[in-house]
Amino acid sequence: MKHYRKELWFSTSSRRKLINITADINNCLKESLIKEGLLLCNAMHITSSVFINDDESGLHQDFEIWLEKLAPEKPYSRYHHNSFEDNADAHLKRTIMGREVVVAITEGRLDFGPWEQIFYGEFDGKRKKRVLVKITGT
Ligand code: ZN
Repeated sequence: MKHYRKELWFSTSSRRKLINITADINNCLKESLIKEGLLLCNAMHITSSVFINDDESGLHQDFEIWLEKLAPEKPYSRYHHNSFEDNADAHLKRTIMGREVVVAITEGRLDFGPWEQIFYGEFDGKRKKRVLVKITGT
């Protein structure tokens, strides 16, 4: 059994951003030399997400509108958490978009359905944040 671990760093110029990290994850998989197994990818922060969905710009706008409806960023005063921070909305958005994904590795490839792509979802950016990639297998 082989084990691989890597941290990927992201720093967005805006507070919220969705980044397709599938190519980065593929590079990790190549580096790991693992052909059969499981890949875990998780955000290491409680105000960002890793999730799988379609790389389609209309859908990404829909996510932004939907998340802002569920947990609007402003007014900051609407949240109890914001008595000492201003990122309550980011905690809530992260929770609904998820912490991690697990992908099967088959014949050295991410064993995806036709439109699946891996995204980093930033909800409280403008600083350096990490994603963990862990791969185990043979
Ligand atoms: Zn907070």
